[in-house]
Amino acid sequence: GLGIGIVGLPNVGKSTLFNAITRAGALAANYPFATIDKNVGIVTVPDPRLKALSDVFTKGDRVPPIIPTAVEFVDIAGLVKGAHKGEGLGNQFLANIREVDAIAHVVRCFEDPNVVHVAGQVNPIDDIETINTELILADMYGLEKRIENLKKKAKSNDRDSAELMALAQSILKVLEEGKPARAGEYEMPVPKDFGLMTIKPVIYVANVSEEFLTEDNDMVRAVREYAAKEGAEVVKISAQIEAELSEMSPEESKEFLADLGVEESGLDQLVKVGYKTLGLITFITSGEKEVRAWTIREGTKAPGAAGQIHSDLEKGFIRSEVIEWDKMVEAGSWANAKSKGWVRTEGKDYVVKDGDVLYILSGI
Ligand code: GDP
Repeated sequence: GLGIGIVGLPNVGKSTLFNAITRAGALAANYPFATIDKNVGIVTVPDPRLKALSDVFTKGDRVPPIIPTAVEFVDIAGLVKGAHKGEGLGNQFLANIREVDAIAHVVRCFEDPNVVHVAGQVNPIDDIETINTELILADMYGLEKRIENLKKKAKSNDRDSAELMALAQSILKVLEEGKPARAGEYEMPVPKDFGLMTIKPVIYVANVSEEFLTEDNDMVRAVREYAAKEGAEVVKISAQIEAELSEMSPEESKEFLADLGVEESGLDQLVKVGYKTLGLITFITSGEKEVRAWTIREGTKAPGAAGQIHSDLEKGFIRSEVIEWDKMVEAGSWANAKSKGWVRTEGKDYVVKDGDVLYILSGI
């Protein structure tokens, strides 16, 4: 599946955040996939559209269950200075981080004399650069090996290899300037098997103490400035508050958040930003049996969306009935929506939009 890896220096609040994630995931009993791995946590994507649709399809006391979609978070421990050379847990770290599709980089933006900082003082920009440097060095190392390989192949007049080598060299140039691979512009898409970590989009997670949830402190401001230059998103959270929230009922946590003066938990914000960063959208299947959200990449066509539900639906895809979720809510039923002419029939080339309600017709 698609995952977001949590990285950061030691003692910045990663475990606190990750524990909150796994506890929140354990509570989301409706989510159909159990946690796969002890370093993987699942957070459901908050989506009020599902409740509205569930109301539409409620018959008496039969309320269709809501099945939200989710984002996977992977705890990637072991990043220390020298990780790119395989120091510490370096190798395991690199293997784990290569698997994820985006990175949530936790940055310490809280002061606490009781929590030792690895570098002796709290400086979020230094911290960010320490991690980024490790990742850039690891990518350079990997890419150099790759170039050696491609050189040999290119010699035997393999055109593809020659093109890939040119690409690898232009990425290497970006890395040598101390920049992450994602900062560059390239002639062709960077293949996944280059195994580059700094090509992945980053979300900076500024971990603050609770008094700075409503207002930024200087450290958060510095992180925002740094991220803006990279075009990266920032989510401000308090890992400790998230840990407390993960122990509460939905009603309790609502009240607690209101007392703190914030509208949305940090985790909810992180999930939403993560979803967007991964280029994901949601389509919905909806009826009396259940109301369910499904995740696809932006740009996926109707058969691909059908394949998320079941591979047979993709193989046997004939057409799809499509209606925007809010039109469905307004119509109040499939029959009514149809008689109003709001249900479209779309074929194989239809690009599914966020919030579409689909009904797939399949020949299998
Ligand atoms: P990790 O090494 O990055 O996984 O960091 P931990 O989650 O283990 O956190 C290190 C220490 O910092 C723990 O004692 C946490 O309780 C503490 N900590 C985490 N977040 C905060 C925070 O927002 N404020 C304060 N004061 N302490 C925090």
